[in-house]
Amino acid sequence: MIRELTCIVCPRGCQLKAELDANGAVLSVTGNACPRGKQYAIDECTHPMRTITSTVRAANGEPVPVKTNRTIPKEKMFDCMAEINKAAVSLPARIGDVVIADILGTGADVVVTANKG
Ligand code: SF4
Repeated sequence: MIRELTCIVCPRGCQLKAELDANGAVLSVTGNACPRGKQYAIDECTHPMRTITSTVRAANGEPVPVKTNRTIPKEKMFDCMAEINKAAVSLPARIGDVVIADILGTGADVVVTANKG
């Protein structure tokens, strides 16, 4: 089976083709202009990861932009979003402030991405 992917690691957006065996193992990757694309294709086919970007409310109702400081397993995205939606941040908030540490045991912290307040 061939799976077609667009590499999202850099803006070049290489079109990748990953050849998978019957068990879903990656046999080969083509179309990548650099090794990062091959790793992206392997990760995407075997254990896809994502960064979450969202907002958290401050006490005054102001939305404060946040993101995970590393990728998390794609299958945990909805549960992590539920945690982020329950969170609040106090002002002033500064870039890098940790809003949720090690969200759901993923090893990723949810951190502030803009100075507010
Ligand atoms: S394969 Fe390399 S050059 Fe191509 S989009 Fe991915 S990271 Fe960028």
